[in-house]
Amino acid sequence: MTREEFDFELARIAGTVRERRCRTVFLQFPEGLKRKAGTVASTLSGLTDASVIVSGEPCYGACDIPATDADLTVQFGHLPIPNLRTERSILYIQARSNADPLPAIEKSLPHLESPVGLLTTAQHIHLVDDMAQYLVSKGFEVHTGKGDGRLFAKGQVLGCNASAARAVSDRVNSYLFVGTGSFHPIAVALVTPKPVIAADPVTGEVTDIAEARDRMLRQRHAAIERGRTAESFGIILSSKAGQRRMQTAFGIQAMLASSGLVSVIAEFDTVTPQKLESLGFGAWVSTACPRLAIDDYSAYRVPILTVPEAEIMVGRRSWDDYVLDEIE
Ligand code: SF4
Repeated sequence: MTREEFDFELARIAGTVRERRCRTVFLQFPEGLKRKAGTVASTLSGLTDASVIVSGEPCYGACDIPATDADLTVQFGHLPIPNLRTERSILYIQARSNADPLPAIEKSLPHLESPVGLLTTAQHIHLVDDMAQYLVSKGFEVHTGKGDGRLFAKGQVLGCNASAARAVSDRVNSYLFVGTGSFHPIAVALVTPKPVIAADPVTGEVTDIAEARDRMLRQRHAAIERGRTAESFGIILSSKAGQRRMQTAFGIQAMLASSGLVSVIAEFDTVTPQKLESLGFGAWVSTACPRLAIDDYSAYRVPILTVPEAEIMVGRRSWDDYVLDEIE
């Protein structure tokens, strides 16, 4: 296994802090990089005159714009969301990984059928052209799709947006996702019936995502059935700028009402099991990040449905038409 290191681009951040004469800088880290926060904060303090504050809250994506009065927010681990306008000053540092993806990609070759749709995440996107060239050198035709306005780079995938996969769906026979974890490749597998192979540059593991997708679909089917027996519904509205879907929340409330179901819209910043339990509803529909329902479901005692799952529950959509809850 590769010992993975990340490029925090501290000299570039310090240059920006000095250039903009920032007095306070607020740092956001995703969970996987939080252990580096202390070192990064002390190094930046040494490189600039600014006071550095580290966010103690979780940060899962670029959708999370913090309410801070700092002069500059630096968010690590994510690429900007182009169609998300913010008045705050934010610098996104994608935290490039040093992991070499080629050994894992080599291992994935027997599982791929050309033409291949190539996808990855912020940490590896700087190598997307190298990955494509490698596949071409092995005789594969490669397509790296450009997604919609929520995606910054070609070939990028988010857990809430697989439009870069959809962009090439009529030109490929399989997809290769290069990255860690199953959240992103499952998102791809929910927008295409074609094989999705995940190659992890850190562990070197190669996985056909079909099994994880089917397991997840069985779990989602069970959640919808549990939702049908609930007597009260809460609708999760996120206060995070890039997850906030107010009109969708109102639409869900109207849809539930037309099925005779009463619901209340509740607003959250970070959702936790304790916060949901204290409100006491029998089931929830989330208009926030789909990770909540798809990835974190085991932490919650009550079912949390995504928007398309709520449509299935009330009969507005068929199970055969199950789709990823994409945010544009
Ligand atoms: S909504 Fe969720 S999946 Fe989408 S960018 Fe935000 S954290 Fe990531």
